[in-house]
Amino acid sequence: MSHFVIKCVKCGSELEEVYCAFCEHCRESLLITEYREKEFRDDRGKGAWRFNWLPVHAPSIDQPGPAVYESLGLAEHLGLNHLYIAFNGYWPEREALLQTCTFKELEAAVVFQNAAENEINGLVVASAGNTAKAFSHLSAVSGFPVFIVVPKMCLVDMWSLEPFQPVPILAVSDGDYADSIDVARRISHTLGVPFEGGVKNVAKRDGLGIVLLEACASVGKLPDHYFQAVGSGTGAIGVREAAERFIRDGRFGSLLPMLHLAQNAPFVPMVNAWGRGSRYLLPEDLRPELIGQITTRVLSTRYPAYSIWGGVYDALRATGGRMYGITNEAVYMAMDLFENTEGVDISPAAGVAVAALKEAVGTGAVKRENTILLNITGGGEKRLKRERKTFHIKPRIISKGISEEEIEKLLCHALKKH
Ligand SMILES: *Cc1c(COP(=O)(O)O)cnc(C)c1O
Repeated sequence: MSHFVIKCVKCGSELEEVYCAFCEHCRESLLITEYREKEFRDDRGKGAWRFNWLPVHAPSIDQPGPAVYESLGLAEHLGLNHLYIAFNGYWPEREALLQTCTFKELEAAVVFQNAAENEINGLVVASAGNTAKAFSHLSAVSGFPVFIVVPKMCLVDMWSLEPFQPVPILAVSDGDYADSIDVARRISHTLGVPFEGGVKNVAKRDGLGIVLLEACASVGKLPDHYFQAVGSGTGAIGVREAAERFIRDGRFGSLLPMLHLAQNAPFVPMVNAWGRGSRYLLPEDLRPELIGQITTRVLSTRYPAYSIWGGVYDALRATGGRMYGITNEAVYMAMDLFENTEGVDISPAAGVAVAALKEAVGTGAVKRENTILLNITGGGEKRLKRERKTFHIKPRIISKGISEEEIEKLLCHALKKH
């Protein structure tokens, strides 16, 4: 018997282990993992695999988790007594050893392991950023074929510690992110391999929930407040779901952490919708021109999991949460503040979260005595590049009009080899 079942958050229908499905009755609703063990355990393996609340059975690769530690420098600067940092990145002194420097590596590892155990022979990923980097890393260290499509303009950010990829990365020369998704759809159809699934993949949300598992394991209780920069919202939803499991356990407190979620202004569709008290995003808040003005492309998805049942809107409602719109200038200042007070570089997206925390302290939304968890979703990239050799990923450049025959010629052997 499996240690979990999958349930619809709206109607409660139960499904046996399935890969990335929607409820057959409720199209606009997420499925959620329900673990048979109500008690949290962290004695199941090494690194990120220590935890019992993950939808995997027999992990086949090593995967480190985030490093959670109590802040001194930033905490003192902000006047906080119990600030904990979940550092997702590379910082060996803190035993932070994520090889791709962001928390996307956690979701990729759990998605990959869950897919492999569901007898899936490959995955397709379309991404404009850190998701592609994380999956290409997992694919390189495991040999599992992942077909990754990125817009050519995003290639500058694509690096790897591994010199070789089992499957060539495809870069669409004549299109944007939407065209990459379209090519990925064609690959999925031609080769018969599924999409990684985005927010609806329970393995992805539970993988990002590792941040809270690691925090509760080391702090011993749920934080009062949780800060994170959001793009799709998948990470925040995963943390809320993990928090509900801790409350059912009973030993870690009885209140959900308040979610403080931040976007990079002026692209702030969720901030605006939440400000209106609405479950629905407005098209004018999703205009591509706004994306051109922000520094954090990883936060720029135009399809966030906000309105869906069990999504960001419901998570904010359930936790009495808040949203923050952070200007570019505030992002840069927050990145410097973190590096100067904590001693390591962080990614711009993580700077968005730091700036939100600073704002919350200023407005009195969080108090000196509160226990606060700050999710540094990416960091240590400068550090890693100083110490380790990284390789530029050499992609296969393709056109958005690529035919099924060309896809087969280019990629089919990768599946056969596996
Ligand atoms: C993707 C990403 C985020 C946002 O996470 P979502 O789950 O999409 O909301 C934040 N920070 C970094 C570094 C990321 O790569």
